[in-house]
Amino acid sequence: MSGKGVLLFGPPGSGKGTQAQLLAASGGMTHLSTGDLLREEVKAGSALGKQAQGYMNAGQLVPDALVLGIVKARLKAGGDKGFVLDGYPRNLAQAAALDAMLKEMGRALDLALLLDVPGDEIVARITNRRTCPACNAVYHLKANPPAKAGICDQCGGALVQRPDDTEATVRKRLAVYEDSTRPLIDLYQGRSILRHIIGLGDIAAIQNQLRVIVGVRA
Ligand code: AMP
Repeated sequence: MSGKGVLLFGPPGSGKGTQAQLLAASGGMTHLSTGDLLREEVKAGSALGKQAQGYMNAGQLVPDALVLGIVKARLKAGGDKGFVLDGYPRNLAQAAALDAMLKEMGRALDLALLLDVPGDEIVARITNRRTCPACNAVYHLKANPPAKAGICDQCGGALVQRPDDTEATVRKRLAVYEDSTRPLIDLYQGRSILRHIIGLGDIAAIQNQLRVIVGVRA
């Protein structure tokens, strides 16, 4: 039997990347972050990365057709394992493409978890965010700092600020979320697979709520 299909979505800075990594690791599931996969393409200087980079740095969505291929490849590579989608789908057209892809694979989306955070909290969170380009670990300078400043706890890599984590770009990304991604709430509510989690407070406490909903043991 195939593992569970879970989507974790929410505004930029809601903590979905951190939570999706933890959930996938504890549940033995595939973590599929389109943001991470796109950043890897940019770093590798691939044709896809070159096409995607301008959109990403401007805080806009990369065209749907460019993202679809990497999602498909990653899902197929995961075989029958459960999966945690992080940052895909980002609009209704991507949601329809995902449905078609999952149907073709004989899989389904079982849960859509909305990690919600008030808008005023978001800008402060993101401008304090640092990430590891080597292993994709995410830190917050105040709430979740690395043990040694500027160095990744997981792999010893040098931490960076993402080029799209500046205040102006975050505001653009928030507007894109409101216009394009928020409509997914009604879609998944209509299918009775939506669960709403408030993404404020302790990382571990939020992770526990997610594990209970998904049925993953700590
Ligand atoms: P994230 O790491 O999820 O914040 O994504 C960073 C950036 O990658 C976004 O602002 C978009 O430019 C791009 N991106 C990530 N996922 C998608 C997606 N599903 N569709 C289009 N663009 C995406």
